[in-house]
Amino acid sequence: MLIFIENPKLLIDEFNQMAEIAQKKAFITVGIEIQKKEIITIHNYLKELSDLKSEFVKRDLENEANLVYCIENSLLAIAYELQMLVNLKEDQMSEAWDNLVRAQVIYGTVISNSPFQTEENNHYLNRLERYEKLLFPNLYFQSVGGIIKESHCSICNQKSGKCGHIKGKLYKGEICVRVISDMQLEEVSFVDNPANKHCRLISIEQNGKTVDIMTLREIIK
Ligand SMILES: [Zn+2]
Repeated sequence: MLIFIENPKLLIDEFNQMAEIAQKKAFITVGIEIQKKEIITIHNYLKELSDLKSEFVKRDLENEANLVYCIENSLLAIAYELQMLVNLKEDQMSEAWDNLVRAQVIYGTVISNSPFQTEENNHYLNRLERYEKLLFPNLYFQSVGGIIKESHCSICNQKSGKCGHIKGKLYKGEICVRVISDMQLEEVSFVDNPANKHCRLISIEQNGKTVDIMTLREIIK
């Protein structure tokens, strides 16, 4: 652990190795038990990284802490991808979708905080998008509209707008989000390009039956 504090470049090397190994297992053909084991390996490594990040923060090394965020969440995205593949094999389609979306969202936060990458032409995001197009049917998304009555900054806890932190940016290895604590619901509408792809229509009517939109299995109420 201390070696990384002296030389963060070694951390990048270790990450590249971990990511390469994990990605070799992120194919549908790879044994489900091997994929499950890799997910555990990644999560164990993430615990180590979390300790390392605390050390960087303690020493006021903000760039290094932010680097750990990017490494953590890149690996977490691969873990979600692996979990999606496991879900597909175990016939858990809804969970598979949610894990794909988690991978996309979390990797998006890495890209937007990395000076070297853009969202438009990112190899890994393209890969995740191909899963979406190939493996899942067309889904219908909902968007929740409303008036935010109370929200605060996740970094400093002050009311939104009262501090200089920017939503989506990293501060000492943590991402800044706007935490909504009170919202007045105005409307729920269907949208093509949703902010939240977890928020989707679950069932459709088909021949007088209510069926799951993913599996087409009847939903018995
Ligand atoms: Zn703040």
